[in-house]
Amino acid sequence: MAIDQGAENSAVAELPTSRLPALELFEYVPERALVVVAHPDDCDFLAASVLSAWVRQGCSGAVCLVTDGDAGSDDPTIPPGELSRIRLEEQRAAAAHLGVSEVRCLGYPDGVLENTLAVRRDLVRVIRELRPEAVITMDPNNRWFGRGYINHPDHRAAGDAALDAIFPSARDARAFPELLRDEGLQPHKVRFVFVGASSESDMAIPLLPVDLENKMAALGEHHSQFDASDMREGMERGAREVGERCGAELAESYRFFDLVPNPSQRGYRRASAEETAMRQAELLPDPPEPATDWG
Ligand SMILES: [Zn+2]
Repeated sequence: MAIDQGAENSAVAELPTSRLPALELFEYVPERALVVVAHPDDCDFLAASVLSAWVRQGCSGAVCLVTDGDAGSDDPTIPPGELSRIRLEEQRAAAAHLGVSEVRCLGYPDGVLENTLAVRRDLVRVIRELRPEAVITMDPNNRWFGRGYINHPDHRAAGDAALDAIFPSARDARAFPELLRDEGLQPHKVRFVFVGASSESDMAIPLLPVDLENKMAALGEHHSQFDASDMREGMERGAREVGERCGAELAESYRFFDLVPNPSQRGYRRASAEETAMRQAELLPDPPEPATDWG
């Protein structure tokens, strides 16, 4: 099931952009990035433009779907498993627009996902195999967006499982020891974590117009789920509004974690509190001209 197309923006829709907090700009490009989401199509709302931007600059991207997406239809005549097959094909076609060929599906039943140890272990396996420097996933804290959308429980469960797999299980040899013992999967520390569609966003990744084009093309592949043709305006507006908060033309925002912080090796901007306050002040609109004509 799709997350709300303007999810992040609708979460804060009642605030003008100029009153939203300024965002740091993340200009570093990870070597390898993995997106972990609940369903086919979630990746393309959450991270398609960023995957496009990073892959364009040399990053190797991958997508992991936790569920099979088999509940994403009201049509009772579709045989079990058929929708899952169609949606995985759609996701592979979508990823191809972003330069991503690595698409995995853990195959858990759609609609009833829980953050179990089995899900966590399967995600640890994927993380140890692909060894991503950055992971993008869903916000497990988001129960709702605005007044129109209660967040899908699979989205929260997938985000929870991904964060639990990243820390501490993927990096600890003694967590799920069978993965090392039987499969030779060495522990791996994910450095950067980006939680998407979050009401606590604090970091932004700059985009070019081509990245939005690629995102629209990716969304356009999910024929079984929605018609993406009317989503363009909202996507562009959202990316411009995030851009205004970080000094870029277009950007995507996330709640950000650096799990191996080393200031001497930072390739991204860290703004001081003063700098952030100044940037915020710069973004505030000019006060209205005082009325001089009293007629
Ligand atoms: Zn979904």
